[in-house]
Amino acid sequence: MPTSGPSPVRYSINPVNPEAHLFEVTCTVADPDLSGQVFRLPAWIPGSYMIREFARNIVTLHATSAHKPVAIEKLDKHTWRAAPLPEGEALTLTYVVYAWDLSVRAAHLDATHGFFNGTSVFLAVDGRTDRPCLVELQPPRKELLKTWRVATTLPRAVEQTDAAAPMGFGLYRADNYDELVDHPVEMGTFDHVSFEAGGILHEIAITGRHDCDTERLCKDLSRICSWQIELFGRPAPVQRYLFLAMIVGDGYGGLEHRSSTALLASRADLPYRGMNGESDGYKNFLGLCSHEYFHTWNVKRIKPAAFTPYDLANENYTRLLWAFEGFTSYYDDLALVRSGVIAIEDYLALLGKTISGVLRTSGRLKQSVAESSFDAWIKYYRQDENAPNAIVSYYAKGAMIALALDLQLRKASAGRVSLDDVMRLLWQRHGLTGKGVPEGGLFALVHEVGERGAVGSGRRIGRWLREAVEGTDDLPLKKLLKPFGITWQAEPSAKRPTLGIKLAGGNGEAKLANVFDDGPAQRAGLSAGDVLIAIDGLKVSSGSLDAAIARRAAGEQIRIHAFRRDELMEFDVTLEAAPADTVKLSPLKRPSPTTGALRKGWLGA
Ligand code: ZN
Repeated sequence: MPTSGPSPVRYSINPVNPEAHLFEVTCTVADPDLSGQVFRLPAWIPGSYMIREFARNIVTLHATSAHKPVAIEKLDKHTWRAAPLPEGEALTLTYVVYAWDLSVRAAHLDATHGFFNGTSVFLAVDGRTDRPCLVELQPPRKELLKTWRVATTLPRAVEQTDAAAPMGFGLYRADNYDELVDHPVEMGTFDHVSFEAGGILHEIAITGRHDCDTERLCKDLSRICSWQIELFGRPAPVQRYLFLAMIVGDGYGGLEHRSSTALLASRADLPYRGMNGESDGYKNFLGLCSHEYFHTWNVKRIKPAAFTPYDLANENYTRLLWAFEGFTSYYDDLALVRSGVIAIEDYLALLGKTISGVLRTSGRLKQSVAESSFDAWIKYYRQDENAPNAIVSYYAKGAMIALALDLQLRKASAGRVSLDDVMRLLWQRHGLTGKGVPEGGLFALVHEVGERGAVGSGRRIGRWLREAVEGTDDLPLKKLLKPFGITWQAEPSAKRPTLGIKLAGGNGEAKLANVFDDGPAQRAGLSAGDVLIAIDGLKVSSGSLDAAIARRAAGEQIRIHAFRRDELMEFDVTLEAAPADTVKLSPLKRPSPTTGALRKGWLGA
């Protein structure tokens, strides 16, 4: 630690009561604000755009100075102020945090492991957030848990070099509060493996019961990570990188951090020894790892200007999530094929799935990806039964916009420039400099890259991008894919007429999760939440509904009995032909030399 400069803010965190899911945290300020020190816990975590009010998990909190109590008052839902102290007296807050959220966004503690994001456990010290932070990770007290280790990319504090065993408990440091809360911490008996990619050490810590073929996982991830590092150019922006994977029976999620990621994945999605090829689940898992890793550049360093700096107390509005989440969603699967981990046919199947997902929701015709980005806080992250009718995913449609942009740049320039050049320019202008991307910044950048490939095409493509981002028209992907020797076939998802509904999963009841706008069920008056009990007088369940519909034809009328709450109702529904919303993409077997060259430039050999 430097001996001069302002004194660091000191934290300690102790998994004090795993059975009750309680961490005990202390925060000590050597020179608190003389007018009364204010402390604040974030209301949201960067990467997950929703107000979560983590302060609701603080169970008790008190303040002391030289072991004497100090009065503390609450100013709002997540802000506290301690009574003023005489100059030179240090202030310590001690508080207990309830940690029982098994997600990548918060904190979780039981006798099997502990996990936390700093945003859930470390109070920010008002006016002192630029100061260095020291954090003492304390081991659990129980003898049974003495085998626990620590996985995090928080650096060890220099003053404890002798005790700084790899993965040991003890003192860690961060340059400021922003950095402190951007390194999640796992503690427990995780499995640990590592690999090298792009000249840096990559580690994977796997928590939870699993039978993962870690050798296979390391081999595949190493190719994906190397490819991404080469895309943006060496050196990699981090000195080491950590995948923190929590494995459960059924789960999916990931959250990006500056040099690590927290992942939640299903046991069955991991590769196992002797597995042939890649299961769909494994491709999904690799796509998730690839996605979070790509964020190391795109959103953790290339950021919307609206995020520089983050305001963790309030919503941070930007219309650009289509570029940060959508482009990342495009590159996550693309990295799998470009690095040679999956075949071109597998990639096209993944792409077809993304496209079909967008085409199945009429929300795409009502909301642009710019609007979806801006309203992420109240819409995308808070989806209800009407979401498919009202919302477009800035992930999936953003990925389609990235695809369309990539194809246009490649075609117009005969392969001289591509979206890769846009990403590299973003990295040089905004990633390396830390200068946020202004709200309209992407359009000018794309214009510039387009001009570099072929004079005159930049303006057209830049304008196209603005219209795609701000409008709700379907993208001309079928036409754009043709010069790359990819055929587009759209067909209904199943050979039966449709009711225009989606069922909720569950116990066998045919309960409606969604009723799609202008579909047969909505026209007849059925609503989300209704439970269908009979079709034409015969009992129906979630398992038998499809078979019952498959025996009818489009245009036929059926009588449905359903419960709305506890009231029995009858509906006459006229079935319709299912829409051709399932897209299958296939590569032409014998493309022309021009087509073959374009495709090779895009997808690799
Ligand atoms: Zn993401």
